[in-house]
Amino acid sequence: MQKYDILIIGGGPSGLSTALHIARDFPNLSPRILILEKAHYPRPKLCAGGLVIDAEVILQNLGLDVSEVPHVDADRIHFDFEAKGLNIRVPNRHALRVIRRDEFDNWLAGKTKSKGIEIREGIKVKNVQLFDNEVIVETDQGDFHAQVLVGADGSNGVTRRYIIPNAPVHTARVLEVLTPTQPSPKFNGFKEGREGAYFDFFPVLTNIAGYVWDFPTQVNGEAMRCWGIYDTNILANEKRPQLKEPLANEMSRFGFDLEKYEVKGYPIRWFSPKNQMSVPRVLLVGDAAGADPFLGEGISIALGYGALAAREIGEAFQQNEFSFNGYRCRVLRSALGQILIARWVIAHIVYLFKWRWFQILVWRILKPIIILLAWIFALNWGKRMPSNL
Ligand SMILES: Cc1cc2nc3c(=O)[nH]c(=O)nc-3n(C[C@H](O)[C@H](O)[C@H](O)COP(=O)(O)OP(=O)(O)OC[C@H]3O[C@@H](n4cnc5c(N)ncnc54)[C@H](O)[C@@H]3O)c2cc1C
Repeated sequence: MQKYDILIIGGGPSGLSTALHIARDFPNLSPRILILEKAHYPRPKLCAGGLVIDAEVILQNLGLDVSEVPHVDADRIHFDFEAKGLNIRVPNRHALRVIRRDEFDNWLAGKTKSKGIEIREGIKVKNVQLFDNEVIVETDQGDFHAQVLVGADGSNGVTRRYIIPNAPVHTARVLEVLTPTQPSPKFNGFKEGREGAYFDFFPVLTNIAGYVWDFPTQVNGEAMRCWGIYDTNILANEKRPQLKEPLANEMSRFGFDLEKYEVKGYPIRWFSPKNQMSVPRVLLVGDAAGADPFLGEGISIALGYGALAAREIGEAFQQNEFSFNGYRCRVLRSALGQILIARWVIAHIVYLFKWRWFQILVWRILKPIIILLAWIFALNWGKRMPSNL
C-alpha cells in the first residue's frame, strides 16, 4: 500500500503550482507530496500558450524566471471586432509571452522536482474513493492512499467526476491550428506578417460566444503562427455555424487554407461563481475548478489556484481539520476569484449582447473606458495574490 499525505493528480500548471507553493510556504510538507501524471514530460498539451503578465508575476513570486523557456513575445494585444478595435500595450514590456506547453510544463516539472517533490510519470488515475479518514486513488499501477487529494487533472479530469458527479458543467469548445508565418507565395492579398496577438470577436454575430485568435509562436525554434477559435457554448441552444467556419474565413483573409492544416480540438471547463471546488479531503484547482470564461485563459489562473490551494492545505495540516469548507470562499475572495467573477460577468455581457452595434460600441467606440475597466477588474491581479507567508 502506498501512503502519502498530499496526493496531486495531474502535473500541469495547476498541480505543479500547488506543489511549488506548498514547498515555499510549508516546506515541512513538501517531502509528503506525490504528484501522479499520466503522461511523460515533455508531453503535448493543446494550448496556444499565451502567458499574461499575471502568470509571470506568480512565477516570479516563486523565484522562477519563465524567460528560461523558449518563447515569442507579442508587444501588443489587439481586441478587434471585424478587424478593427483596440490594442493593449504594457509600458516597457511585452503584452503577451507565448510559450509551447510541452516545453513550459517540462520546465515547471523540472523546477518542482528540484525542490525535492516527487512526480511519478506514466501513472493514470482511474477512480477516486472518499472515506472519513482518507482518500483512496485507484490507478493503472495500484492504489494510493492519501490524507488530502488535489484534483489538478484538467477539464476532462476524473477527480471532479468522481467527487462531484452531478455538478453542472460549463465547457467551452476550442479548435487550434499551427501555420507558417507567411501564406503561400501564390496568395495575392494582404501578405505582410502580422505583428502582435489578435483576438477578433466577429463570430459573436453568428451565436458563437467567443472569438478567433492569431498569436505568434515558435515550434522547435521555427517561427510559426497559432490560430484558433473559442466558443464558451453560452449560446449552445441557438443555431450556430460549424466551429471551423469562422476560423477558416479569418485565416483565408491572410492567405491560409484551413483545410491544409491539422485542426485539433479540446474543451475548456470554465469558472462559474456557483462551481463547487471541494469536498472533505479533496480540493480542485485549475481547469478542474474552472478557467476564465471570457477568453478561456487558464495558465495564469491555474498558477493562481495553486497558491490558494497550498494555503488551504497548509492550514488544514496545522489544524488537523480537512473539511475544506472555506476553500471556495478563499478562492472567491482572492484577487483570482475577483477577476474570475469579473470575467464571468464580462462574458455574459459581451457574448449575450451580440448585436453588431453593441460590439462596435465596446471594441471601437468606448476604447479608453474599456481599457480602464479591464485594467481595474480583469487584469493585473497576480501581484495581489499571496506572495509569501
Ligand atoms: C486550444 C486551447 C488553447 C488554449 N490557449 C491558452 C492560452 O493561450 N493561454 C492560457 O492561459 N490558457 C490557454 N488555454 C487553457 C489552458 O490550456 C488550461 O487552462 C491549462 O492547461 C489548465 O491547467 P491545468 O493544470 O488545470 O490542466 P492541464 O494543463 O490540462 O493539466 C492536467 C494534467 O493532468 C494530467 N492528467 C489528466 N488526467 C489524468 C489522470 N487520470 N491521471 C493522471 N494524470 C492525469 C494530464 O496529463 C495533464 O498533464 C487553452 C486551452 C485550449 C484547449
